[in-house]
Amino acid sequence: METSCQTTGCKNDTPPALAEQRLCVLHFTLTLESSCSVMRRETALGNAPQERQREIMKFITEHGERLARVATSGLHLTDDLKARILSTFLTLMNLRENLDRSNMRSSFGRSGHTR
Ligand SMILES: [Zn+2]
Repeated sequence: METSCQTTGCKNDTPPALAEQRLCVLHFTLTLESSCSVMRRETALGNAPQERQREIMKFITEHGERLARVATSGLHLTDDLKARILSTFLTLMNLRENLDRSNMRSSFGRSGHTR
């Protein structure tokens, strides 16, 4: 059974890999990108609590896996969508890197070293 994307005005079908989210590939990547930019701002300040950092880490892993599943599930994706998926992967990877970097900064801070 096909379900359509929950985004208002979007008539695209939801692929099986995104049934839980009820989003089409395009809106899944767009939603993911915007969540990432919010988290990126959060981590950029370097004062996100450990708990929150773990949440973000989990978010990155889970969504990265889901995105990989969508990308490799044999859907007919346009070149545009393929490019979009790749750039969303890049966003996830950069966010992860940011998190590691801000972690490093805060542990330096805690042990009293400066750069
Ligand atoms: Zn959509």
